[in-house]
Amino acid sequence: MTLTLEILGSNATAPTAHGPASGYLLHTEGGLVLVDAGPGVMAELVSRHDLADLRAIVVTHLHADHSLDLMALAYRWTFPVALDRIPLYAPAADLARLRAFDEVFGITSLPGMAMPIHEAFDVRGLHLDGREEPGLEALGLSLRSYRAHHPVPAACLRFTTTGADRRVVAFSGDTGRCPGLEEAAHEADLLVCEATYLEADDAALDGHGHLTGLMAGTAAKQAGVRHLVVSHVATDDMRPHVGGQAAQTFDGVVSVAARGKRFHL
Ligand SMILES: [Zn+2]
Repeated sequence: MTLTLEILGSNATAPTAHGPASGYLLHTEGGLVLVDAGPGVMAELVSRHDLADLRAIVVTHLHADHSLDLMALAYRWTFPVALDRIPLYAPAADLARLRAFDEVFGITSLPGMAMPIHEAFDVRGLHLDGREEPGLEALGLSLRSYRAHHPVPAACLRFTTTGADRRVVAFSGDTGRCPGLEEAAHEADLLVCEATYLEADDAALDGHGHLTGLMAGTAAKQAGVRHLVVSHVATDDMRPHVGGQAAQTFDGVVSVAARGKRFHL
């Protein structure tokens, strides 16, 4: 099966002139899977794609720079004409916050919009323990999630194609150094890895849970990854430097995520 990764947004925190916050599309023969829905992602998505081609959404964690556009998607999904329900995966331990998000923005006077996200999507918890998360079989994909190192329940994701010609694409989400990242990325064909900083103190890295470009390169090397795509950069002026930094510790292919870039696996 062919699998293509398309970058919708690659900024930490918020959109910039380089595009949205975190958002990625996996193109499968059965349709599209959205990974993370940070601010600006929905606008980027609809600029090139039909929402009806979306088959599933997976959110690594419920920080706003990875999930804020879930509400924009849910509004469109439920009004004026409801679209087909699709699965939405988010960390199981944090689903109460997804309900709270709905309670803030629900519209009780419109049918189907009292709890927009839960009415639009079939909400499913990610277990973060490496078990297979069912629901993507029709797309020819298997999904496993692993525990990231971050202050809220957060997933490192591993998608594997289920056909004979197996391909693996992994996403770090937001994380510091941790075993879950290495498990998710083990011998992956492609790893989208956060590289929030060029340098930072221990409180930001192993404390809060983020990586530098050097650390992303080391993680890719330890996991035996073939192609590393660094993303989730904190500032636009990092962009010319972060790939070179990752290449100091990783001798495979290194790319820097950018809006609209596609990688064919
Ligand atoms: Zn985060």
